[in-house]
Amino acid sequence: MKRIPVLAGNWKMNKTPAEASELARLFAKSLGTVTEAEVVLCPPYVALLAVQAAIQGTRIGLGAQNLHWEKSGAFTGEISAGMLAGWCSHVIIGHSERRQHFGETDETVNKKVIAAQKHGLIPIVCVGETLAENEAGRTAEVVRRQTLEGLKGVDAGFASQIVVAYEPVWAIGTGRASSAENAENVHRNVVRAALKDLFGSETAEAIRILYGGSVTAANAAEFFSQADIDGALVGGASLKSDEFIAIARAAAS
Ligand code: PEP
Repeated sequence: MKRIPVLAGNWKMNKTPAEASELARLFAKSLGTVTEAEVVLCPPYVALLAVQAAIQGTRIGLGAQNLHWEKSGAFTGEISAGMLAGWCSHVIIGHSERRQHFGETDETVNKKVIAAQKHGLIPIVCVGETLAENEAGRTAEVVRRQTLEGLKGVDAGFASQIVVAYEPVWAIGTGRASSAENAENVHRNVVRAALKDLFGSETAEAIRILYGGSVTAANAAEFFSQADIDGALVGGASLKSDEFIAIARAAAS
């Protein structure tokens, strides 16, 4: 099945609004009319407005890096799905850095996914094993559990729009990317298999599964040549204009 690739840039806690605007303008100029891939920029909350202005009128999507599942209330420092809806298209949920440093669990990931669904935000749901889990041979078990638990209760009608990102934790920001073969194996036999169990074959085949973890302009094409790798979630390289533009062009070709 042909799936339009997604290339999402996770800027993490980098860039002031002014710096973000400058970078987004470069991407708007080079990638704003690309139709063969969906490009999404995910700046920090405070730069969303500046990036929105910079990409206005282009095909580039705007994503937040997190949300809170409650509608509103006494949750200092948090942002709800309703606050992002209408102007953000996407939201990253369950990034390993949030699981590792901020107590994100499969349960909170699921609450956030349901909140995103309610507000029409496309969640980019991150799954992936740690180095210790990988070395203990637990990759399939962990990634299957994260996928099943994170996406349970999602409507069949909405499910095909969801994006899943397989990000082995040991590959994020380390310069030690997974091999394309290993990533393809996890995408096909673990993530897509779990999606089939949740939503059935047709929907599972439509869901884009991204690889993330030290993707660069040099290794991107190899990932994108795999049948079940439908794009990438890119951290470090998404902050370098030439790198990210080259990765986007590889995704679109
Ligand atoms: C990420 O932040 O999701 C990520 C994959 O980072 P990096 O590309 O830097 O490994």
